[in-house]
Amino acid sequence: MSLQGKVAVVTGAGRGIGQAIATVLAARGASVAVWDLNHEGAEKTAAAIQEAGGTAIAVVGDAAAAAGVAEAAARTRAELGRVSILVNNAGITAYQPFTSISEDAWDRMIGVNLKGPFLVTKELVPDMLEAGWGRIVNISSSSAQTGAPSMAHYASSKGGVISLTRALAIEYADQGITVNHVPPGFIDTPLVREGPIDVEAAAAHMPMKRAGSPEDVAYAVAYLASEEAGYVTGQTFSVNGGRHLV
Ligand code: NAD
Repeated sequence: MSLQGKVAVVTGAGRGIGQAIATVLAARGASVAVWDLNHEGAEKTAAAIQEAGGTAIAVVGDAAAAAGVAEAAARTRAELGRVSILVNNAGITAYQPFTSISEDAWDRMIGVNLKGPFLVTKELVPDMLEAGWGRIVNISSSSAQTGAPSMAHYASSKGGVISLTRALAIEYADQGITVNHVPPGFIDTPLVREGPIDVEAAAAHMPMKRAGSPEDVAYAVAYLASEEAGYVTGQTFSVNGGRHLV
């Protein structure tokens, strides 16, 4: 499953799942633009890819703000060329009982997790339309499949990502562009480590007795980004170790 000759954008690739996705796509031959708000993280991911012999650039910017997205896209096109693979991975989370979710917290969650993929996709899909070939993979969440207490804003934002995936899959089905989503479930990343969950204790209750790794998600994304996945669109590719059979 070579990605040679492809240019990929991975948002939120400065750490966690996005970092693993960028690394795996680069290892398969794609030139990767590592987009992240976090300067240090973006540089670190890009440097590691380069050291391993791959091609990557670090692009610092807000993937949920139109101006930042336009700037990041312009730099990516200037340095790597037309974008053919987009992974909308950047996201935030929060745990709050429903009645304590403020309007600001709701807007911020929807703004980063749903409006972000809208803005980035809108900016980059013309490259794919021009080429008649594209792969869009959205990172959603198992919480949108199953529901999740104290995460109504997060789960709602990811539910929107699932609907966005399906709508675009149909809209672009006859133009060489596939759009799928990967809902991870309990992946051991800095985001999860910063939350209230005891990762080791929770892992003991998982069917596989372990949390997922960022690479577990990255390999699923790499398949969906490949030539071989050309007849797969609008689909859910769950990566949760059998925790949720959806
Ligand atoms: P993480 O916090 O470890 O990494 C997220 C990265 O995204 C960070 O480097 C951060 O700087 C970047 N980022 C955040 N907002 C950004 C913005 N507006 N613009 C650019 N970069 C931005 O998180 P993770 O656990 O690796 O999660 C990655 C994705 O997977 C998220 O969308 C998350 O919701 C989803 N997810 C994760 C899990 C899990 O178990 N870890 C489960 C379900 C879904």
